[in-house]
Amino acid sequence: MIEVQDLTRRFGPLIAVDGLSFRVERGEVVGFLGPNGAGKTTTMRILSGYLPATSAGTVAVAGHDVLRDSMAVRRSIGYLPESVPLYPELRVEEMMRFQGKLHRLERRALRTRIDEVLERVGVLDRSRQLVGTLSRGLKQRVGLAVALLPDPEVLILDEPTSGLDPIQRREVRRLVAELSDQHTVLLSSHILAEIETMAPRVVILHEGRKVADGDQSSIIESLSGGAAGHVSLEAAAAAEPDRMAELIGSLPGVARVEVGERVGIHHSFSVFGEGDLREDVGALAMTQGWALRELTWKRPSLEELFTRLVIGTLDAEEEPVPRSVAEPAVEVSSAPDLPLAGGELPLGAPGTSAQKTIYSLNPFDRGASRDLSKPVSVDDPSPAEDDPESGA
Ligand code: ATP
Repeated sequence: MIEVQDLTRRFGPLIAVDGLSFRVERGEVVGFLGPNGAGKTTTMRILSGYLPATSAGTVAVAGHDVLRDSMAVRRSIGYLPESVPLYPELRVEEMMRFQGKLHRLERRALRTRIDEVLERVGVLDRSRQLVGTLSRGLKQRVGLAVALLPDPEVLILDEPTSGLDPIQRREVRRLVAELSDQHTVLLSSHILAEIETMAPRVVILHEGRKVADGDQSSIIESLSGGAAGHVSLEAAAAAEPDRMAELIGSLPGVARVEVGERVGIHHSFSVFGEGDLREDVGALAMTQGWALRELTWKRPSLEELFTRLVIGTLDAEEEPVPRSVAEPAVEVSSAPDLPLAGGELPLGAPGTSAQKTIYSLNPFDRGASRDLSKPVSVDDPSPAEDDPESGA
């Protein structure tokens, strides 16, 4: 339904999208993720036919080539840009009629269709209100109504929940879930927790490149080096935390122990290894006389892994190598093959400043870190553009 092959977009010396390839099949809901400036909006605007690519191997939507047949692409797509281009001086229904004319919808059918989509997004009772007087959340809904008006096969939603309060965000999430029954949806966000609930599959961009692509559970598993989760322990003891970590690390099946922050008299540890090791860690705590406050099995969130993937590499360059208090129990010679973006995954050293790795099996510890400070190359500089968001 959406096919992007080797797409590149430059703005002067900046490569905003760099050789990007991905596919979205009919009926899929795909989350487009990445930090600010990753290239999400640029890609979505190219897909929607509002911005030309610098070089596009293949960019096709619903079987239409974006370059050669951009009108057909626009007809197949409902696009909700990040800043919704609405007409403040028009009433909601007037603006919808205007949009309908732009889409050349038949006049009588248009009236019914406008009511249908306004009802669908929950603003039918606002149809006589001036657009400029709507709250931000209501404007976002009207923007969605505009995108839905021509009943497009594909919906491209750029940060649909941006700037909304938690209740409005929940409403928009519910709406997207409903829409996904009938449309192929590509939606962007830099709020990972949100995408986690809306899109089973995610494509992660960083500095214009795809760094991961797959369903969330396989991404989580791959990025965490095959570990489905870890044991989280909080305990108070007379022993020093390094000694406690050493004892935990000597348990069979434990690959790595991270020492977390101290909270009051309790020390926290994350224990990685072969599966759920709560019983072994609990038994150790009992024999050592540690006072347990927490012993839980934690599955990493996409957010945690994303931070390691994107931000962790930066931390890795600034931070010294984590202090080791013991030799690694198992050597890892290379990062595992990740079924993600064909080796494009930039893996760096792990963790946050609050954590020290003791035993390590984690691919983040030793993988080659990408040089994020390196300036992008300029092969064919063209003047920077600043084209305003086109309407519709
Ligand atoms: P955000 O989450 O902040 O919306 P994004 O992932 O959508 O970010 P883009 O808006 O696609 O990122 O921007 C990618 C890069 O391209 C950024 O560095 C941005 O400044 C640059 N860029 C985007 N549009 C233009 C333009 N018209 N002229 C010059 N640079 C641009």
